[in-house]
Amino acid sequence: MKKASERRICKKQKAERLCKVEMATVFDAMGKGEVVLKIADVKVKIASIRLKTFFVKGQVCIGCGLKATFFAVERHKKDAWHLNLYGIDSDGDEVLFTHDHVYNRAAGGANDLTNTETMCFVCNLKKSVVEAKEGAVLKHLHLVQDAWRETIVREPKIAELMDYEKRLQWSIQFEEELKGKMDGSQS
Ligand SMILES: [Zn+2]
Repeated sequence: MKKASERRICKKQKAERLCKVEMATVFDAMGKGEVVLKIADVKVKIASIRLKTFFVKGQVCIGCGLKATFFAVERHKKDAWHLNLYGIDSDGDEVLFTHDHVYNRAAGGANDLTNTETMCFVCNLKKSVVEAKEGAVLKHLHLVQDAWRETIVREPKIAELMDYEKRLQWSIQFEEELKGKMDGSQS
């Protein structure tokens, strides 16, 4: 059973749908090197990194193993028509698929196939929440470390009394462990 918040998020993604398209139709055209596909009188682009990720890396979410089953030609408001990949979860709900950046783009991860994986929207959202939380922990840690360093320089006696040097060493070690864990969870 999915949480209500996840359900709401999936619903929020709902776009105007023109029609469903079989995955084979799209991947056959991509395999032939075509960059545009004509479906029901509209033209959709099929050369994006997102679609290439689904084509090259597969149509299974690397987070939860959900299999994508169809494409749909959709648009949000007045956007151009585009292809979205969907799977059906155990509740019978449609789940949008996306291309995840293994190394966060904000942290300098590349926007190409060396750094993308197929992931469902729910897993992608969970991952981004985890990344944001860990980022916040590091930010807080750096603020505390800066305060200790400042005290060590300005008030060495207080720093000695409070063992700031030792705490600093410990926090640097903790930071390295945390970063190692973050790297591990991304690979
Ligand atoms: Zn998933």
